[in-house]
Amino acid sequence: MAICKSRHRYWNLLGALPDDQGGIGRHKCCGCAYEKGYQAGLTRSGRILVDLNSLHESQAGTVRHKSPQAAYAKGYYEGVQASYQTMKFAV
Ligand SMILES: [Zn+2]
Repeated sequence: MAICKSRHRYWNLLGALPDDQGGIGRHKCCGCAYEKGYQAGLTRSGRILVDLNSLHESQAGTVRHKSPQAAYAKGYYEGVQASYQTMKFAV
């Protein structure tokens, strides 16, 4: 998988994620995981599925060695929250 070049590698909000010390997620990009989770949450897909193979690799920035599973779950949660805020303003 390609190396991630996105700015999300440096997002501070991902700095508090737990470390992934040795799983296959260790070198995956948590920014990519967060954004995928966020999109799934925004549509409330009901599917919390982290496909580690679909994520870019990253060894840089805030996301280095963080857990992509936790990043996806955080993104999903915040996407769901955002979806309710969008509805609130739309009414
Ligand atoms: Zn990425």
